[in-house]
Formats: sequence, C-alpha cells, structure tokens
Amino acid sequence: MARIADLLAAGRTASFEFFPPKNEAGWLSLGRTIAELEPLAPDYVSVTYGAGGSTRTRTADLVSWVRRQTSITPMAHLTCQGHTRADIRDILINYRAEGVENILALGGDLPVAADDHAPSDYRYSIELVHDVIEFGGFSVGVAAHPELHPRSTDRHADRGHLAEKLRVADFAITQFFFDVRHYVEMVDELTSLGVHKPIVPGIMPISNLGQVTRMAHMSGAEVPAWVIERVAKSGDDLDDAERIGVDVATEICAALLDAGAPGLHFYTLNRSWAARQIVANLGLRPTT
Ligand code: FAD
Repeated sequence: MARIADLLAAGRTASFEFFPPKNEAGWLSLGRTIAELEPLAPDYVSVTYGAGGSTRTRTADLVSWVRRQTSITPMAHLTCQGHTRADIRDILINYRAEGVENILALGGDLPVAADDHAPSDYRYSIELVHDVIEFGGFSVGVAAHPELHPRSTDRHADRGHLAEKLRVADFAITQFFFDVRHYVEMVDELTSLGVHKPIVPGIMPISNLGQVTRMAHMSGAEVPAWVIERVAKSGDDLDDAERIGVDVATEICAALLDAGAPGLHFYTLNRSWAARQIVANLGLRPTT
C-alpha cells in the first residue's frame, strides 16, 4: 500500500474512480472492470461516498475489498455534510484498522430528501481536512473545481478557499472539464497564492453525450461546442460515440500532460474500456 502524496512525489500517476454498486449485478460488473484495469498497474483507485453518508457501508466495503483482494492502493472519498465528529472518527478508526492510507476529504452535499436539521458538525471540507490530519496516518486530498464550485459566485473567494485547503492537504483532484485552459488558469491562480501542491485533473471520457451534459451542468462544468459537435457526429451509433469520446479525452489528456499535470484521474463510471483505450493511446507507462 502507499500514500498518494508519496506516489505523486515519485512521478506522474494514473488513477481510476469507481462508485460502490447498489446490487449484486453491479458488484459483479465492477469486479470485471477492476480485473481489466489492474494489469495497467494504476497508482491508486478511489471510491466515491454517497451524499450525507448514504453509501457509508458500501464505500467502506469496496475500499476494503480493493485493499485486501487486489494489488491496487485504494483511496476512500469522505464527505462531511450531515456527519458529526463522532461519525467521522468511527469511519477513520475503521479505515485505519483496514490499513487504508488515503482519504479524499470533501464537503459533499446533503441528499435531496435529507432533513435540513440533521445533526452536522461540519459546514465546509476544510474542517474535515483538519480533523483527518489531526487523526493522523492518512495522505489527504481535496476537491478542486477548475470552473469554480457550482454554488460559488466569487472567483477570488472560491480560489482562496481552495488555496486554504491545499495549504494543509497533500493534493487535489479536479472536477471534470473539457477546456484545458480552465485547469492551467486554476494552477496559475493557486501558484500566485503561494500554493504549489499537485493538482490532478479529473478526466471524464464521453460515451453518452446527454448523460455527461447533465452531469456537467450539475457540477458547474461547460461542455464546449467543439466537443458536442464532434461527439454528435456519431448520431445514434453508441459505439462510435464512445470511440469519438475516447479520441477527445486522449487529446485533452495529452494537452494536460504537456501543461505539466502531475497525473490523470479517470472517472470510469465503473467501466474500463474508455480508460484503457486512453491510457494505451497516450502510451502511458502506469508504473514509473
Ligand atoms: P468545500 O471545500 O466545502 O467547498 C464548497 C463551497 O463552499 C465552495 O463554493 C467554496 O468556495 C465554499 N467554501 C469553502 N470553504 C469556505 C469557507 N471557509 N467560507 C465560505 N465558503 C467556503 N460528492 C459526494 O457526495 N461524494 C463523493 O464521493 C464526491 N467525490 C468528489 C470527487 C471530486 C474529485 C470532486 C471534484 C468532487 C466530488 N464530490 C463528491 C462533489 C463535492 O462533494 C461537491 O462539489 C460539494 O458541493 C463540494 O465539495 P468540496 O469538497 O469542494 O466543498
């Protein structure tokens, strides 16, 4: 196992993100996906955490499964909205006992149906970052939004809050985006704030334009017209759409690596094909 801070210090990383499946068919399918990605020797994989703790057990189960049954280093996402400090402590005790060494510390959002008055000791992710660091034993990452957090109306304040997180955390992973300039501008703005921690771009290969456009809208990302036009050329041919999506993502990844990105983090949606093609197209050697 390894700490992601050390992996990033050693060289460029390639990593994959999964969500914990809801049913047995989903677990079987994800098992196949992980078996297909493991030969690429990913530096780490990460497992999402449902809003307000809605996947608390399933996230922990998947992280532990990766830790015990594969050769891959896992990172657990953890959100703080809707949690008490005692909840967070219990979760961290469990991860430490399992030998998990990496946490992505997030603000999260309460589930839509959640009681607004559910007990929460946290408001912002920075509070969780401090608690995880104080608990000890974890390399800690945070979320970054190149096109600003969707609720943010003030660029300067949003970058300031990100800088505040990165002064204490080890690294950031970004929300997905399609225009490399957003990433480069964010890194430049953080540099001017005196922050030089690694910021790993999150890559979303497009297979279904409608689905990705909806997700982009929710996360405050823009799908540029050139991307829509390229993928739309596939018409109703889903295989062709996925192939074009891989070509687009490969171009974006190549530009990001040219711009000095310290690694690439792929949003897989629990599927391996697109991520495998992109890694092959880039000629990435996953082990450095
Ligand atoms: P914060 O850092 O708390 O920021 C949220 C907003 O508050 C921003 O607008 C920020 O500018 C503002 N803010 C921050 N600090 C302050 C302050 N001190 N004072 C005033 N304003 C402040 N969500 C999930 O539910 N589960 C997941 O597994 C998950 N994984 C993710 C992985 C990545 C790589 C990314 C980029 C996002 C992920 N998210 C996940 C989504 C994330 O939880 C949401 O975007 C959430 O709304 C904000 O999270 P954050 O960590 O950026 O929050």
